[in-house]
Amino acid sequence: MKSALQDVVKSWSLKLQRQFKVLKSSLAVYTVVCETKECNFRVHGHVPKYESYWLVSRVEEHNHMLRNT
Ligand SMILES: [Zn+2]
Repeated sequence: MKSALQDVVKSWSLKLQRQFKVLKSSLAVYTVVCETKECNFRVHGHVPKYESYWLVSRVEEHNHMLRNT
């Protein structure tokens, strides 16, 4: 379950060619943010209590242009 969500997040990052870092990663919560501190980018996934699937509960877009590397 968790790896499936991570794959989704990774594929987003690759598609957008943008970097993120894992802020929180546990059995029930997975949060990634942008490497740029001031950026609002955030993807938050969690497993609802008594459930076994991941919900992506928040997605914020980057608020800046990333340099090409
Ligand atoms: Zn960003």
